[in-house]
Amino acid sequence: MNIKKIHKLALSILTFSVCFGTIHAKTPNLIVILTDDQGYKDVGFNGCEDIPTPNIDTLANNGVIFREGYVSFPVCGPSRAGLLTGRYQDRFGYTTNPTIDPKNEIAGLPKEEENMAEVLTKVGYKSAIIGKWHMGSHISNHPLNRGFDYFYGFLSGGHNYMPEMLTIQDLSQVTRKWQWYSTKIMENHQRIEIDDYLTDELTDAANRYIDLQVQEDNPFFLYLAYNAPHAPLQATEKYLSRFPNIEDKNRRTYAAMVSSVDDGVGRVLDTLRRNGIEENTIVVFLSDNGGTTKNSSNNDPLKGFKSDLFEGGIRVPFAMQWKGTIPSALEFPHPVISLDIMSTITAQTNVQISKDRPLDGVNLIPYLTGQKSEAPHKTLFWRKRENDGMAIRSGDVKLVANTKYKNTENQLFNIKEDISEKKNLKSSQPEKSKQLLQEWENWNAQLKERYFPTLGKDDWWKKN
Ligand code: CA
Repeated sequence: MNIKKIHKLALSILTFSVCFGTIHAKTPNLIVILTDDQGYKDVGFNGCEDIPTPNIDTLANNGVIFREGYVSFPVCGPSRAGLLTGRYQDRFGYTTNPTIDPKNEIAGLPKEEENMAEVLTKVGYKSAIIGKWHMGSHISNHPLNRGFDYFYGFLSGGHNYMPEMLTIQDLSQVTRKWQWYSTKIMENHQRIEIDDYLTDELTDAANRYIDLQVQEDNPFFLYLAYNAPHAPLQATEKYLSRFPNIEDKNRRTYAAMVSSVDDGVGRVLDTLRRNGIEENTIVVFLSDNGGTTKNSSNNDPLKGFKSDLFEGGIRVPFAMQWKGTIPSALEFPHPVISLDIMSTITAQTNVQISKDRPLDGVNLIPYLTGQKSEAPHKTLFWRKRENDGMAIRSGDVKLVANTKYKNTENQLFNIKEDISEKKNLKSSQPEKSKQLLQEWENWNAQLKERYFPTLGKDDWWKKN
């Protein structure tokens, strides 16, 4: 037995000894399937009527549906920074989408923060990011320099999907805003040519990666960050032809894009089954923020869209399976947040988390197996610094000052009774509103200001 194998055996014994009542042969793999700007209602398990998602639904049927599943920010970059670190991203100043400037060393995840891959490396995991990175374009923030062993995708916040559109060799050749959507796909540090629709290529890469990890007997973390169904709306006839009855052209293309992701989820689940690792792999599915008006998504019955702190911006399709550990067909009755994924996987591996950077999430497994029956979170918080936006959810009630409309007074809603945030209870419950605002202020006092240039105001490409 070589040293690597001995190390793995030691880890397995460790896990066996710390998982009271839950016996796993090995530390579980983790696959996070993240979609981009997908609407709350645009999955079968949340009642979608015009886009079948049988494979994503399988995942939900095999495990748990989080009807009140949140992300920590209503747009891409900060939401992903929260997910990957397990911490409210404003704790380290990731308050907005960073510039895509490859020469800017600070635009991205701060070096002192540890992401999921960096943490899991310490307990022998291999990690891959396949798809959208968006955590910095400088070489020092390249995924291979941030704990990941494999990268297949693109560094920026969005991308074209058709292979013939990917003509730019590198960010250094970008001469206008958004042109980075046409950069060639990267495999590790190499620019490569692709033949197929990008969503299909990402799925292929994910399956190759899983097969390789099984072959090498590695515990692994796969972050499959599809950019679908984020704009631009582009789909192939293979998927468009599934929706002859959707008359709205944009909705039809969006449906095709969601359908391609659904095929991808099905193929990933097949790969787990074929390799016999379903019971040793946690699979989480969620969107990085709510649907936007730009991609014809549907957040019903939630109010608002991407970039709002109303439910439509931060509450997302969210499901998780861990066959053999989490009961199937569970509907979890309490709020959870994307930050919980980090706490959940690190609890299974027993890796030590730095005391200087405590996690904001909770290990969800005891709540899902019935060992704990209370709500995992007493309060959840949101801040959108650039727009003076704030929100706090405590139990069933939420105090929110939405972001896009400065000086909008905060409003109080009972989310359980009023999912669409229609009835402002602030005047009838002034004490509750005051108390929640104070709690939010206490949290806000721990946060940092934005520390990098924002995508909204950058123009670095003019120097190219
Ligand atoms: Ca997004």
